[in-house]
Amino acid sequence: MLDAMMRARVGDDVFGEDESVNALQTKLAELFGMEAGLFCPTGTMTNQIAIKVHTQPGEEVICDQVAHIYLNEGGGIAFNSGASVRLLRGDNGRFTAEQVRENINRRDDAHQPVTRLVAIENTVNRGGGCCWDFSEIKRIREVCTEQGLAFHLDGARLFNALVARGETPRQYGEAFDTISICLSKGLGTPSGSVLLGRKEHIKKAHRFRKVLGGGWRQAGYLAAAGLHALDHHVERLKEDHANAKVLERELQSLRYVTGVLPVETNIVIFKLAPGVSPEGFLAHLKKHDIRAAGFGSQMIRVVFHLDVASSHLEPIVAALRSFA
Ligand SMILES: *Cc1c(COP(=O)(O)O)cnc(C)c1O
Repeated sequence: MLDAMMRARVGDDVFGEDESVNALQTKLAELFGMEAGLFCPTGTMTNQIAIKVHTQPGEEVICDQVAHIYLNEGGGIAFNSGASVRLLRGDNGRFTAEQVRENINRRDDAHQPVTRLVAIENTVNRGGGCCWDFSEIKRIREVCTEQGLAFHLDGARLFNALVARGETPRQYGEAFDTISICLSKGLGTPSGSVLLGRKEHIKKAHRFRKVLGGGWRQAGYLAAAGLHALDHHVERLKEDHANAKVLERELQSLRYVTGVLPVETNIVIFKLAPGVSPEGFLAHLKKHDIRAAGFGSQMIRVVFHLDVASSHLEPIVAALRSFA
């Protein structure tokens, strides 16, 4: 990847003149059968720009209560778009078309904010990396079309879902108005995300990226990393999923673990027994060069990615077993 970055042909992306950025945007747009793409520094920026593209201040976004756009983007929905949020309680972040329908406000009632956008996340970070059923996505798409709502996908880990479920990018390109793809998660680039959508949306998105300070110049070095990742790091996501499965089984046998969210992709979220200190547990792992994250209420998250090999499983399991 570093070699590909060093060889990148670059230009000034603010003027649309960076060949590598243009190639990445075109490659992803074509892969998903969407009209255009916009390369941005982070997935937070691509999500926030999408929300801004679809809403006006005072309008409402429907999303799940554990959504990254709601919980993990610094209050950006309010800060950047002045929009309000209708939170749904889904099954580990996955809600139904019926829930969406029940929560759409009446446009003719001036008391209520105008519902404008439905946003989902696939895979769901706080849902333990679980995948949506595409049939439910299609049903939500139908509700959005019927009710004139935009439909956005936070696809930070969409490639994990595609690989796990044997789905195609085109299915997703047809279902959503905008999709945010992170290249910096399991795909392993240093930074960067791409927002996909129709030309009219991406044209607006280009302006908002500038406003947010994300008009970057020779971003092609990072785009080259993204191109490399798309060519070489998608199929191998399967290995991360298999490694996560091994860890799931091990955790289920540990006395100090009371539950593991069903593992479907590269994320493992589990709960420590009452009285077990998450700080102490994380410090123990760190001593063995294993980094995990506390997720609140005794929960711990472990994520498998490009830089974790199957050969690391043995020392991970040993470290878990040596924690008393
Ligand atoms: C990581 C992530 C993002 C974007 O994060 P950045 O660090 O800003 O690139 C968005 N959504 C989800 C679900 C994520 O896990």
